[in-house]
Amino acid sequence: MAGRQHPPTHSRPYRPREKPISSHVYYCLCGEYNLILVSTKPLSDFPQRITDSAYIIDNTQIKHSWNAKRGETVLLKRSDGYEQQERYHCRRCDLLVGYKATGESHSGDYSYILATALTEAPGAVPVALQNEVKSSLGR
Ligand SMILES: [Zn+2]
Repeated sequence: MAGRQHPPTHSRPYRPREKPISSHVYYCLCGEYNLILVSTKPLSDFPQRITDSAYIIDNTQIKHSWNAKRGETVLLKRSDGYEQQERYHCRRCDLLVGYKATGESHSGDYSYILATALTEAPGAVPVALQNEVKSSLGR
């Protein structure tokens, strides 16, 4: 340690940050809170899965905490192999709200949030569900 210079204490290194990180709370349709997401952006800005439109959360990058209860583990056959889903259900009404997927088709550590199940405002209809209703009425 001797001979090493201490960094100056009067000025902190400038660390650019795009946006402040904040907590986003997500509620089930029944009003129960199910998920807390700590992120710079809301869930609606996350990428969505092609198979079921679920929002994709990279567990190694995004901090989040489930209030939903762990449900059954199911095995699904996908075009690129088997997928095992550990499912999460709302504590109050048992609605399926998301899952963690592992298996042949998954190399990383990801969680998936069903776009039609959770909303940031309790009692509101999720945006994805509103769009679904609109497109089904528009035909
Ligand atoms: Zn619920």
